[in-house]
Amino acid sequence: MHILIDGHLDLAWNAAAHDRDLSLSLDEMNRAEIGMNDVSYRGLATTTFPEMRAAGIHLCLGTLLARSGPEHQRKQKYLRTEIDYNTRIGSYAAAHAQLACYDFWERQGEIRLIHTAADLESHWQNQPEGQDSKSPIGIILSMEGADPIPEPSMLEVFYQAGLRAIGPAHYGHSHYAAGTAVEGPITADGRQLLQEMERLKMGLDVTHLSDRSMAEAFDLFGGTLWASHHNSRTLVPNQRQISDEQMKTVIERDGVIGTACDAWMLQTGWIIGKTRPDQLTMSAVVDHIDYVCQMAGNANHAAIGTDLDGGYGTEQTPTDLKTIADLQKVGELLADRGYSDADITKIFSENWLRVFRRILPDQ
Ligand SMILES: [Zn+2]
Repeated sequence: MHILIDGHLDLAWNAAAHDRDLSLSLDEMNRAEIGMNDVSYRGLATTTFPEMRAAGIHLCLGTLLARSGPEHQRKQKYLRTEIDYNTRIGSYAAAHAQLACYDFWERQGEIRLIHTAADLESHWQNQPEGQDSKSPIGIILSMEGADPIPEPSMLEVFYQAGLRAIGPAHYGHSHYAAGTAVEGPITADGRQLLQEMERLKMGLDVTHLSDRSMAEAFDLFGGTLWASHHNSRTLVPNQRQISDEQMKTVIERDGVIGTACDAWMLQTGWIIGKTRPDQLTMSAVVDHIDYVCQMAGNANHAAIGTDLDGGYGTEQTPTDLKTIADLQKVGELLADRGYSDADITKIFSENWLRVFRRILPDQ
């Protein structure tokens, strides 16, 4: 088994906004949702802590996720009650509820929050022995869409709580940048936020930034950056996907691109809620990983950022991915395509480790 780092999971959002108990087995958690229909993916989850351990996931980026940008206020038609807030305090409070989830899980021994380089090294050396190990999963906190930060000067509040990376926007405009499905610049507050992040040596996650906002972020931000869950726009065209030019810049900056397992990012023409995953297999995940490696000319920049608990379940995953534990197949598929064991280890963990080592403070 290859030990794996997942560059993108929304674990606490699943607990705080969906009332999911991730310490259960997958079967138990999904059975508990029978009859619930508040969101379309009830009972179809792929991700719990036991399944993550079976996947060999020893570390991941875990998000704080809440929005209060202009498209997300309750008078708008795109309201999603589990993620959208009218007010800055609403998204600030929602992110704190998610911080409470991570704190709870750490007290339960499910996870270990990684705040420093020393935390990372001791956690990484302490790898689980065997799939049934109950060892805690390491989590580095990231924020998907920066709306929970009421103003740039309050970044410190979240940094103190362990936040080490930020993607300034999610879907629509945030208070800091333009995101998926819209276009626009980094805002004045966004410029200040990027400066403050660079001062604190935090990571910048460019996933979800619109083309203009991403181009500006590349210029404005001199620190460590990556694209946590971002598939190729050439393979599957959509503004949400990463263009060749953007990918080249991430590679030149010695960043990492995490391939996501969401079906619509893997199969051209997928219509959410309509298309069924009849044809799609994990071979498509490997296509996107391989695309990054071909662009780079090596295996130093491709990684995995599954997004497997990001608001969908098995209705929107490859047919051979029923649980996050199936990710180990990616290693076999890469080997089938001629990837060496050393390259698979880079893709599974070492590339993420390299960028994490750059952003974590010594103490
Ligand atoms: Zn996302």
